[in-house]
Amino acid sequence: MAKYGYDDTPFLPNTKWRVHDSNRPQPPVIWPGCFSTQEAPGEPPSDAIILFDGKDLSKWVSVKDGGPARWKVENGYMEVVPGTGDIRTIEEFGDCQLHIEWAAPAEVRGEGQGRGNSGVFLMGRYEIQVLDCYENPTYADGTTAAIYGQYPPLVNACRKPGEWQVYDIIWLAPRFDENGNLIRPAYVTVFHNGVVVHYHTPLFGPTTHRATLPYQPHPPVGPLRLQDHGDPVRYRNIWYRPLRGYDGEPEWRDWTPIVMAPRG
Ligand code: MG
Repeated sequence: MAKYGYDDTPFLPNTKWRVHDSNRPQPPVIWPGCFSTQEAPGEPPSDAIILFDGKDLSKWVSVKDGGPARWKVENGYMEVVPGTGDIRTIEEFGDCQLHIEWAAPAEVRGEGQGRGNSGVFLMGRYEIQVLDCYENPTYADGTTAAIYGQYPPLVNACRKPGEWQVYDIIWLAPRFDENGNLIRPAYVTVFHNGVVVHYHTPLFGPTTHRATLPYQPHPPVGPLRLQDHGDPVRYRNIWYRPLRGYDGEPEWRDWTPIVMAPRG
């Protein structure tokens, strides 16, 4: 096998790799997929784990009773059936890149929090708000793409009701020590329709209505949960990719201060 790189360069701080290390493994080759249009969902990257492909809710259950998810599936999307309750994935996951598309009802009804309300709950606890805030004001930390009750988005990047919108989310789960103490908060980065609206934002704790909640220790993985807030919001093309180094890099990036070796 061809070798590229060098074996006589300095080590990078806190790693086993030299600069341009000839033994450093190559990144895996994937197909990056393609973007969605209003007319059709795109295709996920080849290494994505697909949670909803427009066909069925086999990867989802009802939060209420753990039974089958009772939302409607048609024409490549799922739609909230008001009163059937929140749904969640059977699969549980932690740090990830999450892609999810949604559309508020084309027929505008209600105002404020009552218009096209739903929600994307990471690990079942931390809500990125789904709401139709196209010419529909509400409290800032409850607008579309807000970290609900904590942070407004940096901008309102809403498309019109009925149009497909995209959240691309980078989620870092909170870390707890063996005694359940918080070592590091959850961090989230969110793109709404390709526009950054949160950048590495530390959550105060789980999200809720008219209150603050402290972190409670929980496993490093959890389900993705979607909210039934009484509005027939639609979702399509839902997938995630776990965040981890292909070469098994440990979490020193998060914990260890960088100490540069003396220049030689
Ligand atoms: Mg909501």
